[in-house]
Amino acid sequence: MPPSLIYLDNNATTKVDPRVVEKMLPYFTERYGNPSSLSHSAGWSAKNALDAAREQVAALIHASPDEIVFTSGATESNNIVLFAAARSGASILSTPVEHSSILNPLKHIAREKSNILLMPVDSLGRVEVGTIASGDAFEGALVSVILANNEIGTIQNLAAIAEECRPGKFLLHTDATQAVGKIPINVNDLNVDFLSLSAHKFHGPKGAGALYIRKSRLKLPPLTFGGGQERGIRPGTENVPAIVGMGEAARLCAEELDANSETLTSLRDLLQQNIVESLDDVRVNGDIKSRLPNTLSLTISGVDAEELLLKTPGVCFSTGSACETGSGKSSHVLTAIGMTREEAHSTIRLAVSRFSTVDEVQQASAHIVSAVKSIRSDRF
Ligand code: PMP
Repeated sequence: MPPSLIYLDNNATTKVDPRVVEKMLPYFTERYGNPSSLSHSAGWSAKNALDAAREQVAALIHASPDEIVFTSGATESNNIVLFAAARSGASILSTPVEHSSILNPLKHIAREKSNILLMPVDSLGRVEVGTIASGDAFEGALVSVILANNEIGTIQNLAAIAEECRPGKFLLHTDATQAVGKIPINVNDLNVDFLSLSAHKFHGPKGAGALYIRKSRLKLPPLTFGGGQERGIRPGTENVPAIVGMGEAARLCAEELDANSETLTSLRDLLQQNIVESLDDVRVNGDIKSRLPNTLSLTISGVDAEELLLKTPGVCFSTGSACETGSGKSSHVLTAIGMTREEAHSTIRLAVSRFSTVDEVQQASAHIVSAVKSIRSDRF
């Protein structure tokens, strides 16, 4: 990243922590054995590295290491769970504020099955607790609810949702991709059966992720078939360097969670204060009482978010979900929380990380405020 660029798009991806890179490097050039080659020490060394990473990832979410299956990322983890449910004939309950790696598989599944229901959310993006219990026709269903929203940062009351899913009436999956590493996560407190995560959202490398599968559910059928790695649930030679990196990233997040959470909150709040106090007609989106500490979604009335991006070339931020950017469509999340097309197109997402600085936040907010003023003054 050029030093002049201020990166505030950390919900799209994050910088790999240099301490993570350092741990990964030997697994490219020195310890490059295949973790399934258990007939020699090069294989054992890779296998030991995978075991250590499994413990580190498990510790971050308070799971047991044998409940962690390594995948290429949250997209794959989400697909494994959804297609397993679909193939077993189970109905699926989800929400309209999920990431496209949930909603698109569901569209695909819906072509063959009709028993998929998206539960309503309120204007803050919260699932209305009570909607699950009323769905008796869905007994035995998989419920899949995003833990923290990638666009507006709203954190769901998953424990309350889990309560409705018990006893044994439903299975509960959560896409925790944005939450992992930013807020404390305990799979037992959340009472989930499955949880998806991606390393690159918490300063690990891209292309590595995991699926937590509660011990009692470990018979999940695979999406692909091969050499039987990862208990056969995700076969294929594991990406050892990336998984080692994910393990170290998880270890660092667990160790530094409290300090990082304070840093993220204070930087995000400064960004919010600078922008909201300098401009009229700016709305903060999401549930400000229960929101990711790093995320700020703003609707800036009368300002086209794409034009604002063009006028602030030194700052990286997004105008909705990064995956949707450039499509010209309104974000499905913003639409689901009741925004008009015009409001959605006036919405920006800023997301700090532990590598963001006060100076960057001051500069970025000054650039954004002056660009908004210039756009508005051109108009009137
Ligand atoms: N879920 C959520 C909430 C996300 O934000 C993302 C990444 N944008 C994903 C899933 C998919 O992650 P990956 O691209 O690493 O597979």
